[in-house]
Amino acid sequence: MDNTKMNDNGLIDINEEDMDSREKPKVTYICGGCGKDNKLDKDSVIRCTHCGHRIFYKKRERKLLQYEAR
Ligand SMILES: [Zn+2]
Repeated sequence: MDNTKMNDNGLIDINEEDMDSREKPKVTYICGGCGKDNKLDKDSVIRCTHCGHRIFYKKRERKLLQYEAR
């Protein structure tokens, strides 16, 4: 028997309890025109909501860990 659960689409059915209530993960882009942050869906139109610019820089996902020494 195959232990891998597959749905009808042939995709692996991942049980995402926490992800279920959340929206799709959005990627934050920096507008090339006004420099403001834009959180865009992957399948949404790439366009600045502030100035309408269409060139974006992908924001680095580097997490800034700023732990204050106590
Ligand atoms: Zn802009």
